[in-house]
Amino acid sequence: MVQEARTFDSDILILGAGGAGLFAALHAHKAAPALSIAVAVKGLLGKCGCTRMVQGGYNVALAAEDSIERHFMDTIEGGKWLPDQELAWKLVVLAVERIKELENELGCFFDRNPDGTIHQKAFAGQTFDRTVHKGDLTGIEIINRLAEQVWARKISRLEEHRAVELVKAKDGKGIAGVLFIDMRTGEYVFVRAKAVLLATGGGPTMYKYHTPSGDKTCDGLAMALRAGLALRDMEMVQFHPTGLLAGPHTRMTGTVLEEGLRGAGGYLLNGAKERFMPRYDPKGERATRDVVSRAMFSEIRKGNTTPHGGLYISMSHLGAARVAREFKGMVERCADCGFDLAGGLVEVVPTAHYLMGGVEFAADCSTTLPGLFVAGEDSGGVHGANRLGGNGVANSTVFGAVAGDVMAQWVRNKPLQLPDQSAIDAAVAECERPFRGGAKGNLGKIRDQLYDVMWERVGIVRDAAGLQQASAELDALDAELDASSLAHAERTFNLTWHDWLNLKSLVAVSRAITVAAAARCDSRGAHFRSDFPDASALETSMFTSIKDGSVTMKPVAFTRVAPGQSLLRNVA
Ligand SMILES: Cc1cc2nc3c(=O)[nH]c(=O)nc-3n(C[C@H](O)[C@H](O)[C@H](O)COP(=O)(O)OP(=O)(O)OC[C@H]3O[C@@H](n4cnc5c(N)ncnc54)[C@H](O)[C@@H]3O)c2cc1C
Repeated sequence: MVQEARTFDSDILILGAGGAGLFAALHAHKAAPALSIAVAVKGLLGKCGCTRMVQGGYNVALAAEDSIERHFMDTIEGGKWLPDQELAWKLVVLAVERIKELENELGCFFDRNPDGTIHQKAFAGQTFDRTVHKGDLTGIEIINRLAEQVWARKISRLEEHRAVELVKAKDGKGIAGVLFIDMRTGEYVFVRAKAVLLATGGGPTMYKYHTPSGDKTCDGLAMALRAGLALRDMEMVQFHPTGLLAGPHTRMTGTVLEEGLRGAGGYLLNGAKERFMPRYDPKGERATRDVVSRAMFSEIRKGNTTPHGGLYISMSHLGAARVAREFKGMVERCADCGFDLAGGLVEVVPTAHYLMGGVEFAADCSTTLPGLFVAGEDSGGVHGANRLGGNGVANSTVFGAVAGDVMAQWVRNKPLQLPDQSAIDAAVAECERPFRGGAKGNLGKIRDQLYDVMWERVGIVRDAAGLQQASAELDALDAELDASSLAHAERTFNLTWHDWLNLKSLVAVSRAITVAAAARCDSRGAHFRSDFPDASALETSMFTSIKDGSVTMKPVAFTRVAPGQSLLRNVA
């Protein structure tokens, strides 16, 4: 017997507790301390999501020799002229404020130069060393401090609450609230809210090899698609070249071995232990992430692989003592998996890292659904075809703060809306689907098939025939999921149920990636079509926008700078 959803009210409801969600909560509270604010999160606040996993750092133009214009140009050129320029501009301008707030108000300590200024290191694809960091554990510093500040305020926490549906008002004119499953009890909970922030962090975990945290399964994007919102740039999935390959049965597989290994002079070898990168690019292992990932994928396709089906990274020619000294964390991570990074070979494979695509939104974080706001990796348009390393956490903190400020204003003098009860009932019925029919199907097998489809046909190299085949395979997987049911009716921490829900979200968003990739008939940034290997004209750049299952190509507005121009003085 399924209970009715328990209901309560909040002025502002935030979905997700990463950089975007926590910044939004703190800013909304600061702007209007009397408001009721709730942060709902699939995991535990402070312990989940990818902001916590940030290793490298945070891009921001602080140094006198740097400028926001330079950071902006790097972002636009890195994004292959697809970013929304107003969003990118807001990113680079407000990153300066946010990093100061993180240090001076929220208590983060970042690494410093001997003269006391903040240390900024080099990151790939940028013309200036502007990445602020705390060693290689920057995300832990940021999330721990943000979580402490949230705990210290009157902000409600709904932990281990999984959002399952964005529910519109009865008159259809805006959002009325969000339906959740309390994962601890399995009860349905409906939170009415005047403003809702979608900040569940995207995360391409539908690929066989991936880096993001396991709690991220594109739930927010799947809910946005169901609510009829447009998603842009969904074909743009960033792969990191050196994911650890430690066998199929460990979550260590797919986790990142940092870019600095290639930067320091590491070699990539194929299964025959031959260096192959110079055959693909004169920069060898130091080429950009997309180029190296594609070269690796080609070697793997040719069958030149290691025992686990990947390639090797080799550092020993640099001297084992130096490697052990400079890459202590990476050496330890590899040792945990039985590899000797300093003196031997480590198996690696490109790994899905980041979704550049997401919900279309305005610079004030509003969406086309009144009352629904979006920030962080759930949003699309800031990065275009490629995200610069270091612009991810900047994106989530900058736009999370904007959303908090804007929502605090938005809810003023607004009533809570009556929800569309039939939409709640339909969402509950959909969540209940796997409890009907006894134990049927095999979720592990469906997950493996999804991994293979996305890796083989919608991954680093794509073509029309493969994408068409993938679409049919994803439809079949969705039907198989709908026909699957669970062995146990117990709802308390029923993780198999949540696996089923995770897969439903992942398949829905995989379809969006696939149709967007089929619609983009050129190669740019993270998207490579072997049947259209060249980039189309930058001056007439279009981005993909998917809504209700179909894709529209929309022109990029060059509001600040056009291809061939620059905002930097003395540059042609
Ligand atoms: C290994 C790794 C290293 C990285 N290093 C860098 C770096 O050096 N620099 C950089 O700029 N970026 C880096 N990134 C990217 C960066 O982590 C992200 O861009 C950014 O942190 C995303 O922030 P967010 O707030 O949007 O999402 P997240 O921080 O991922 O938070 C998402 C939140 O949503 C919650 N959630 C998910 N689904 C639901 C649901 N259904 N209901 C309720 N809550 C839900 C999650 O539990 C989590 O709390 C890295 C990413 C990874 C994986």
